[in-house]
Parts: sequence; structure tokens; C-alpha cells
Amino acid sequence: KLDPKALRYMSSDDFRVLTAIEVGSRNHDIVPEPLIAQLSHIRGGSVKKHISDLIKRKLIASESGAKYTGYRLVYAGYDFLALKTLSKRGSVTSVGNQIGVGKESDIFVVAGEDEQEVVLKLHRLGRQSFRNVKEKRDYLRPNQSPSWMYMSRLSAQKEYAFMQVLHEYGFPVPKPVDQNRHCVVMELIDAFPLRQIDSVAEPGRLYSLLMDLIVRLAKHGLIHGDFNEFNILLRSDGVPVLIDFPQMVSTSHPNAEFYFNRDVDCIRTFFKRRFGYESVLYPKFALGMDK
Ligand code: ADP
Repeated sequence: KLDPKALRYMSSDDFRVLTAIEVGSRNHDIVPEPLIAQLSHIRGGSVKKHISDLIKRKLIASESGAKYTGYRLVYAGYDFLALKTLSKRGSVTSVGNQIGVGKESDIFVVAGEDEQEVVLKLHRLGRQSFRNVKEKRDYLRPNQSPSWMYMSRLSAQKEYAFMQVLHEYGFPVPKPVDQNRHCVVMELIDAFPLRQIDSVAEPGRLYSLLMDLIVRLAKHGLIHGDFNEFNILLRSDGVPVLIDFPQMVSTSHPNAEFYFNRDVDCIRTFFKRRFGYESVLYPKFALGMDK
């Protein structure tokens, strides 16, 4: 599905047509052929051929609307455009194995600058409902055309922005490397998700590291909002790393106390269940924590 070799084999005219469909989809659910011809500056006759190439390669799909038949990008096409950009910038030089399928993402280990391994996270919003409805299709075609692209891109931009800020503040998060469209490139953390860990030498020590993180975030005006064993990786030296923060809210949010307590409870519950560890000490939300 994510084929880096395809990058090399695409003609520049195919690429122009693919790009034209991306641009056209900013204001068209289904991009009509004349618009594709206009945006790609390729004459009508040969546009058809490039379109059918792209359909064969499953980078776009044809779609019949109420008024006309046109074309739209599918995830593979959007992946292609993002990878092309990232590889042009040198932040992704080759794609390796998929290491994770998140709730709303696909995660690959890729080679970055200087052949060093990094993580490529492709945000995929609007995929779940699509899968349920159209499972039998042989490739991804989300059903709400502009919104899946927009939502996925927004989600990647948001993640990257938070990662930059958190990294700058010295929080244990992957070092952000690059971002384009629905993709984030980040440091590869050599660690396991907490949910896969059955025992730790000193649960009390890890417990307070995590509670300290929640408090430190709040001192910077932030609440994670989804602080759980799925979003925390545990390095072999015992340091926890936060990898995912899609629901971060401000400590001045009207429901800040609720979110803060939920994060704290999440860790308390997990430690009780998994490690049989309980403590009477846990942080409590207070107005002005960020002062
Ligand atoms: P989602 O938000 O879609 O659930 P996550 O960001 O939580 O996706 O990542 C899913 C899985 O991919 C994680 O559980 C982890 O195993 C792996 N992963 C994600 N980012 C990294 C990273 N920077 N380094 C190492 N593994 C990662």
C-alpha cells in the first residue's frame, strides 16, 4: 500500500495530474476532468490517459456525483504526494516496515537523513467508519471526500506543533523531524508501550514519574486528556516517553479539572490492575497550577 518504489516510476505528467486533483479537491468533492486539465496544464486528450494510469495505480478513484463523473484522491494518492514531498526534502529516504496500526494512524519505520531510522506516522481520520461500511473494496476510499484529507492533515499539524513545543520544554516526547500533509516524521523511540509491560522493578518510581509528568504539563497550562498505557512508551532505562497527544486541552478549559482527574485516575487504575500498586498520593487539580 505504501510503495516508495512507485515514487520513482511515476512520470512527471502523472504527477502533475495527481497534484491537480489534490488542488481541485480543495473546493470540489469530486474533481471534474476539465478542471484537472486546466490545473495540470495538460491538454484534454492526454489528461484521460494519465487519469486512467492513476486509477490503475489506485491513487485516485472515479466517482459519480449528481451532476457529473469526476475523480478524487484516495489515501494512497495522498500518501504518495506526502512521501514525494518528504523525500524531496530528504527527511524520508526509504520506507521500511509498518510497526503499528493506531486507532487513527499507520506507523512505519523509515530511513531519514543520514540513513538513520525515524518514524513516519500517517494520520488517517475518517477511516474507521469507512472500513465498516465498505470493507469489501480493495483499497481505501473514505466516503467523505474533503473532510478525511482536511481532518488528517489538521491532526498531523496539531501533533507536530505540540511535539515541537513539548520537546522544546524538555518533556519526554519523540524529537519532531518533519511534517507534511497528513504525515509526521519523528524520532524512533526504542521502547515498548506500557500496555505490553507485565511487570516493572519499581512500580512506585514509575508511578511518580508519570504523576510528575501530569503535574509538569499542568504547570505549562496543558492537560494531556488521553494519558494512558497506550500513549506512553517505557524505555529500557525506565524513562517513560509520551508518543501521542491528540486531545490535549488547556488548564483554563471549563472542564479542565475533569480531564486532569481522568488522566490521574487512568494511571492509578492501570497501576492497581497491572502491577497491584496503589498509593494514597496522587496529584489534585488546582486553579492556577500554571502560575
Ligand atoms: P494512534 O494515535 O493512531 O493510536 P500512536 O501514535 O499511539 O497511534 O502509535 C501507535 C503505536 O505505534 C504505538 O503504540 C507504538 O507502539 C508505535 N509508535 C508510535 N510512535 C512511535 C515512536 N516515535 N517510536 C516508537 N514507536 C512508536
